[in-house]
Amino acid sequence: MSPSTLAGAASAWIGLGANLGDARTALQNALRALAALPGSRLVQVSSLYRSAPVDAGGPDYLNVVAELQTALAPLDLLHALQAIELAAGRERPYRNAPRTLDLDLLLYGEQSIDGAELTVPHPRMWQRAFVLLPLAELRPGWVTPAQLQAVAAQAIERVDAPADWAG
Ligand code: ADP
Ligand code: MG
Repeated sequence: MSPSTLAGAASAWIGLGANLGDARTALQNALRALAALPGSRLVQVSSLYRSAPVDAGGPDYLNVVAELQTALAPLDLLHALQAIELAAGRERPYRNAPRTLDLDLLLYGEQSIDGAELTVPHPRMWQRAFVLLPLAELRPGWVTPAQLQAVAAQAIERVDAPADWAG
């Protein structure tokens, strides 16, 4: 086993978003927290994107997608993501409210999960430009031109390459 491989680890894809306060710093801190999770290794991070809120008001979002190699089981990972959100001051006053940090589990290996707490693949990921564009950047073969076309009306721009923002 190479030192960079984790026994029994799955490749988890996480969508990160923030639109309150210092969103850029919130995303940087979140990536650091992801990398520090037990049995986990941050593999890669997309460029930083700015997107208009979907079905909601408030400031523009900053978004990225990251791949985490992790030995955590899906629900344990979800709970870890929620703990990182809480530590970042996340509140849920109402549905689609602006947020200091949102961490969504997009994909977990090849698994399909349909539970009370967790649905994977994330049910709305294919409708969201702020997920599909960063994902297509890292895994071009996973997102079809038709899927990109379907979200082409959503306002989004690439702000910074990974090396320029994630460090
Ligand atoms: P959203 O991200 O959809 O705007 P929240 O972040 O408030 O909303 O999440 C609402 C609920 O979604 C959480 O309580 C969580 O249990 C559930 N959920 C179901 N599937 C997922 C997933 N794949 N990733 C993150 N949360 C999920
Ligand atoms: Mg969420």
